[in-house]
Formats: sequence, C-alpha cells, structure tokens
Amino acid sequence: MNDVESQPGFQQEHPGKPPRPDLNARTRRVLTHLDAVLPDLDALYRDLHQHPELSAQEAHTAAEVARRLEAEGYEVTRGMGGHGVVGLLCNGDGPTVMLRGDMDALPIEEKTGLPYASHVTTPDGEPVMHACGHDVHTVCLAGTAALLARSRDAWRGTVMVVAQPAEETLQGAQAMLEDGLYARFGTPDVVLGQHTAPLPVGAFMHREGVTMMGSAHVRVRLFGKGAHGALPHLSVDPVVMGASVVMRLQTIVSRELSPLEAAGVVTVGIFHAGARANVIPEEAVLELTVRTVDDAVRAQVLAAIERIVKAEAEASDAPRPPRVEVLSSTPVNHNDPALLRRIRDAHAGWFGSSAMVPGVLVTASEDFPRFAQGPEQPVPTAYWFMGITPLKAWNEAPGNTPEEKMSNLPGPHSPTYAPDREGSLRKGCESLTVAALACLHPGGASRDA
Ligand SMILES: [Zn+2]
Ligand SMILES: [Zn+2]
Repeated sequence: MNDVESQPGFQQEHPGKPPRPDLNARTRRVLTHLDAVLPDLDALYRDLHQHPELSAQEAHTAAEVARRLEAEGYEVTRGMGGHGVVGLLCNGDGPTVMLRGDMDALPIEEKTGLPYASHVTTPDGEPVMHACGHDVHTVCLAGTAALLARSRDAWRGTVMVVAQPAEETLQGAQAMLEDGLYARFGTPDVVLGQHTAPLPVGAFMHREGVTMMGSAHVRVRLFGKGAHGALPHLSVDPVVMGASVVMRLQTIVSRELSPLEAAGVVTVGIFHAGARANVIPEEAVLELTVRTVDDAVRAQVLAAIERIVKAEAEASDAPRPPRVEVLSSTPVNHNDPALLRRIRDAHAGWFGSSAMVPGVLVTASEDFPRFAQGPEQPVPTAYWFMGITPLKAWNEAPGNTPEEKMSNLPGPHSPTYAPDREGSLRKGCESLTVAALACLHPGGASRDA
C-alpha cells in the first residue's frame, strides 16, 4: 500500500499512530468486492473522460451514475438542482454519511494524447475536457457506493451519495441545497469529499481547518460620458476612472487587511472599455476575483471594493452611480478539525503514514463548503486531496519536495492533466470507502473484533 514510501519529501506526519485493526478489518471486507467492480468503473471512466459535459449539462454523466446506484439498491432521486443525483442506502441505526462527488468538465481543449482523450466540442465549437479530474471523483463515488452496498454486514447507518453538477461555476452545491437536499433527505451527520491533485498516485493530503480559500467573482460597471478623443473636457472618461479604481483596489490587501491575521487576493482579470483610439467610451467594465481565508474578511474586502468604486466614480463626477455585482461566491473550505483528524488517521492506518503529505493551504476554491450549511447548525465536513500522477511521471519530475515536483507537473485545469487511470480509481475508491467506514457504525461486533 505504500507506493510512495520511497519518494522524497514525504514526512511521517503521525509517527507512532497505531493503525486501527478493527477499521482495517472492516475495510478489507468491503474492498474484497473492488476487483469485481473495477472493470465497470474503468469502462465508466473511459466513457466519462471521452464524453465530458460542461457545468449544468451533465445529463449523460448523471444518468450513468443514477443507473448504477439503482442497480446496487439505492433509493435514487434524479434532477436535484439541475442534473444532481442523490442515492440513499439506509442500513440500520447509525449516522448519515454524505459522500459527494462532482461531475462537470471544463471548456479546455485536451492535449493529453490519451487513447480515450476527449474530442468533444459544444455546438458553438467550444472544446470540453475533464481537466479537473471530476470524472475520477464521479467514478470513485459510484465505486464506493457499490462497495458499501455489497457489504452491508460490515457497517450500519445511512449512506447518502451525492453526485453534484456545476462545481466549476460554483453553483451546483447551492442549487442542490435550494432544491431541498437536506429538507427532503435529512441533514447528514458528516459530509465527505475528495479532489484529485498532482501528487503521486497513492499519496493523500489533508489539512485541518481552512484547506481552500473562499472566493467571489465581482463585476463592476463604471458609467462615464463619451466624447471625441480630442475633446476630453467634454467627457467623463471611464478609462481613467477604471484605471484609478484598479490602482486603488491594490490598497485593500496592502493597507486594509491585517498582515498578521488575514491573507487575501484581489485580482482584476478583465478591464474592457472603448473600441477606437480617438473615442472616449461611455463605460468601462471590470471583473475581479477575490480570495480570502476567512469569510468575515471576504465580506470586508467586498465592502471595500464597493466603497472604492463608488468613491472613484463620484470623484470623476460620473453621470450615474457605478454598478457592483457579486456574480458568484463560495465560502472558505473549512475542515472540521476532529472529523478531519479521524479521516486522516483512518487513511494513515490503511495506506501507511508515509502516504500522507503534510497539508498546505490551497488558494483555489470549491463550492463543497456550501454543504456545511445545515438548516439549524453547521454540518461537519472533511475534504482531502488524492494523488493521481503516474509514479513514473512523478519520479521524473524535477524537484526535491512535493511542492517543487507538483509545480513541474500538470495540475487541475491543465490541458495535459492525465490521471493514472487504474491507480487513481483503485486508490480513490479505497480512500472514500475508508473515510465512510470511519464515520459509519461497525456492523456485527463479533465479526469486526
Ligand atoms: Zn476545477
Ligand atoms: Zn475540481
């Protein structure tokens, strides 16, 4: 199990932690079915990888998942928050454990050269690729669901399988919740999720507390007064107004956030204005991304953006107030410390502590933390990263630490992101199964002793 034991940079993060023989014994019983389900999972993976679907268009993927869940005896509901699928398997008294996998792909042209590479384009010619590994997540979710259904004597409780649409647009989790995910099926006791990472296949990374930053996508429209480019005194120039806004926004992180308490990013990624060199346009549009490690800081940053934009417009004598819209946002992905420790210990017990990579904060964002919003109180969530890089590619990548090697390997959203197929599916099913069993109650006590 310790494929990465000899790799450089892997520290023994939990030395001396004894494996949990009861959990490993139950895991072994459940995983006896893995070889039987793998051929179907491999076929599903090739199918999904070759036929990726953009956010909110996951009809085929959802149908494949739903069909498999039904065949394993799950009570299945389709069409939750778009193409979301929910599968429930009630198996005696015990906690409800929600397992979440996301299904959508990205508008990226695949350049892996794999025999099962995607050549899909949308009707308007946009290429589509599973460049974030959501096909791995979906297949491991279906695989784990099958393994748990075939070994019901090894655990007690309720398994709630959630195949989520539209993660890349940060809309699917909220859409499923608004469609009554918790109201209709009950609020789970814990929510578990995993994401691929350019670590070696068989390695896992967990981080207590904040594991991924929260984000907001903001659009700003600045209204000016157009004029001939040679008659600037007759204009209110939105280009100059926008330039002042861009410069002043740089002071939010540098002058308004405490360097000791808050990390944040404010990036202006889009600045559109004008079409001719000699025409002062009527308006300018800016689009920003905001990242923070704290939801209160995100609110502070958003308030500062609005204040600065309004003040610059007023300073320019704009004819109309500017418009500031938050197009999408997602909270900080915060791992419940006790739950995360339980999962990490379970993974270390199964995969060996040498397969555990010390957790680092990821600046990317996820809508997974939406599932922590219970109707009455927060739901504990745990989210970890699983390596998918073929060992040969990992060994050949330059660098002496995992971070250095990862920076030299294709990661999520790269057109050459190519998971080790069999290794990723095996390890991904194992990691989700181990985590689920660590939260469910044991089955018959005598058999698990
Ligand atoms: Zn992604
Ligand atoms: Zn992703």
